[in-house]
Amino acid sequence: MTTQQNTCALYRALPKIDDLLGEDRLTEACQDAPRALVVEALRSVLDDMREAISRGELCQPATIDEVVEAALKEIAVRQAPRLKRVVNATGIVIHTNLGRSLLADEAVEAVAAVASSYNTLEYDVEAGERGSRHDHVEALLCEVTGAEAAMAVNNNAAAVMMAIACFARGRDALVSRGQLVEIGGSFRVPDIMAESGAHMVEVGTTNKTHLVDYERATTEQTGLYLKVHSSNYRVMGFTSEVSLVDLVKLGDARGIPVLEDQGSGVLVDLTHYGLPYEPTVQASVAAGATLVSFSGDKLLGGPQAGIIVGRADAIARLKKHPMARALRLDKMTLAALEATLRLYRDEERAVREIPTLRALTMSVEETAERVDELMKQLTSASLAADFAAVDDVARAGGGSLPLTAIPSTVLAITPNKISVEELERALRLDGPVPIIARIHENRLVIDTRTFVHDDADVVIAALRAALSL
Ligand SMILES: *Cc1c(COP(=O)(O)O)cnc(C)c1O
Repeated sequence: MTTQQNTCALYRALPKIDDLLGEDRLTEACQDAPRALVVEALRSVLDDMREAISRGELCQPATIDEVVEAALKEIAVRQAPRLKRVVNATGIVIHTNLGRSLLADEAVEAVAAVASSYNTLEYDVEAGERGSRHDHVEALLCEVTGAEAAMAVNNNAAAVMMAIACFARGRDALVSRGQLVEIGGSFRVPDIMAESGAHMVEVGTTNKTHLVDYERATTEQTGLYLKVHSSNYRVMGFTSEVSLVDLVKLGDARGIPVLEDQGSGVLVDLTHYGLPYEPTVQASVAAGATLVSFSGDKLLGGPQAGIIVGRADAIARLKKHPMARALRLDKMTLAALEATLRLYRDEERAVREIPTLRALTMSVEETAERVDELMKQLTSASLAADFAAVDDVARAGGGSLPLTAIPSTVLAITPNKISVEELERALRLDGPVPIIARIHENRLVIDTRTFVHDDADVVIAALRAALSL
């Protein structure tokens, strides 16, 4: 037979979709998956096989079993959620790619409660009439930050954009050259200014900006002073910035509002937990900022949101801005935010129950105990690898506490039969839950600081599978 004839025979030997649908295992699959999806999966498997034949990669006729097997895999892939749980073993607590902050149990319960029931989103039960969605978090935000008024929108980028648009569209917004930062995920101050319709006026220099720089640049056209917390980098050495208090004094004298983009949204004094001082929202409010904005899912440890607190008249203007409607929060986020903020009424409870704070403040001893526990279970399983508990550092991530190395004891794995790259890949791809770890000095490093629920069991099962003798 010529190659040509052989290829034709291979094409012809491929089973027909209608015949395959009669196969028991696929009929069963049709009970869980829509029939159209099963047909699509079969079509895609057969297309792949035809291509393999045309490239000369498939030289034997495919059996029905092989096609069914491939189709079942394809169906499983198509049915599986894309957005799904992973184990964060990176030691980066606020990992933007892995969903930033996890919600406290109370917040998860609050989300579930409003998600599946009608609720008071915009209804005032007492008055029996329409209410405002802002009310659910405003009083709490005022209580925990000391501000007069507050609101929350989709994220901090949105909050900053809306505030600039509201106070400086078509006017000048002054910002120090030392604060023209880019924050991960493409938040760039000059771009946000441009999109908000404000004319950005840069003052001072990269390393030093003085109050007189703001004074000189202030004109009739000035609508806003913007102060940006350079969360993810530090200018060191010969530097100076104008303090918020001084900027507020100038703003009050000239009738110009001051917006501080605080970024991380810290509500507790982190120095009480052995971490470096990070300016708190309360401190910015006390310094008199007209508006302070911050993320809900960074150091606050809540859902994705952009929170703005500040003076009552300024917040009232923001609430009426058309962008406030476009950027408003949904009921699930509001429920999660309300529950998270409630925990801050008792700082000890907040640190214990908000996963982000708990992970950040976990002692190095506790991480060592966790690694000990893992090692016990792994060494008793006689696996093809060497395990060691080593000193390492975790990071806050999310542009918070950028220079802070948080001491962590981690599990370092040197595989004996496969390469460390193969092990990294196996943990990421082979199990039911992807495990995201990093390679350091040719060892796979697992930081347990960010483990929750049964993450440790997931990791042990995956290591047993990947490293069996
Ligand atoms: C993270 C950050 C932002 C962006 O906040 P999102 O909630 O991610 O939109 C803006 N400004 C600063 C200073 C930040 O740290």
